[in-house]
Amino acid sequence: MSGIYIHIPFCKQACHYCDFHFSTSMGKKEAMVAALRKELVMRKDEFKEEMVETIYFGGGTPSVLETIEIQSIIDEVYKNYKVTDNPEITLEANPDDLSTEKIRALSESPINRLSIGIQSFFESDLKLMNRAHNAFEAENCIREATTYFDNISIDLIYGVPDMTSERWSENIQKALSFGIPHISSYALTVEPQTALASFIKKGLIKNVDDEVAQAHFHILSETLEAAGFESYEISNFGKPGYFSRNNTAYWQQKKYIGIGPSAHSYDGVRRGWNINNNPKYLKAIEQGELPMETEVLSVTDTYNEYVMTGLRTIWGVSLSKIKSDFGNFFYDYALMQAEKHLQDHFLYIDGDTLLTTQKGRFLADGLASDLFMVNLE
Ligand code: SF4
Repeated sequence: MSGIYIHIPFCKQACHYCDFHFSTSMGKKEAMVAALRKELVMRKDEFKEEMVETIYFGGGTPSVLETIEIQSIIDEVYKNYKVTDNPEITLEANPDDLSTEKIRALSESPINRLSIGIQSFFESDLKLMNRAHNAFEAENCIREATTYFDNISIDLIYGVPDMTSERWSENIQKALSFGIPHISSYALTVEPQTALASFIKKGLIKNVDDEVAQAHFHILSETLEAAGFESYEISNFGKPGYFSRNNTAYWQQKKYIGIGPSAHSYDGVRRGWNINNNPKYLKAIEQGELPMETEVLSVTDTYNEYVMTGLRTIWGVSLSKIKSDFGNFFYDYALMQAEKHLQDHFLYIDGDTLLTTQKGRFLADGLASDLFMVNLE
């Protein structure tokens, strides 16, 4: 099982917290679509033996593309790759792009899953984050989208300064009221070099508070699990049958090709990343060159990634896989490092599998880092 990720590096405006790669200048949109299609052709041999199960348009804001542009990229995938009969084809979309006409047009295209960047249903949160949409658009687009799509995910952000637990609960209840089957939810993080970091430094916005974020996370888990969602990854909650196939493949170390500026790729041995600069990307692709750097993952890197993704998901970390893939030294080390967290009930072992408890879930990244091996090579 393999996936193709397509990065659309444009946004209408910069959200204050964001450090992804995008440009707010749309002047090169057409040239970018042509370049993405060309990169797909240039790299088709990488997946000669693979069946593509998922196609994911991420960004940036993929919904700034016209549906005909999205269709042309999907057509290029079908022309050059072997695609399974029922691929998951996801489009990340922002509410301000999702007019009824656009949603209808998308529903007539091969896109069969929408991931909508709602973030909050409250105006004050949206303003603080500098989102391009307002609270009315947030609700309205979901109402419209559920008429045409069954497989919908929305993103929500918690731990926003001044967001009370009550307001956070209202956000979740509002999301549930639309009957959508999947929610991705992340704590607001302050990345360096973002507007948010600078506002906090100047005292214009309160800093985020880890304890508040943790309390919000527990509200989120309890509410969604009571509503029939499964927390299959620390930030992802899905009803049965609606787990993201794209993300699941990524967490299970399946191969993927990342197309577009800043997109990452993984072929089971090597990681690659495209240049995160639109003009340089366009120029290289026009000249028939792939602007990608690669590194071969060391055994230690592969082990660390496996532990990190495993502890964040319901599939956990297979101890026998550690032994067979990495050897006794890694196996003994993982168990030794896990011991304290097993005693503190942040981790538990079920048969052969090491997992985070409900109590440990929010701390999964820290727990995983305690099991990391420092590079031996
Ligand atoms: S829309 Fe998404 S990618 Fe664009 S600036 Fe906002 S958070 Fe970043």
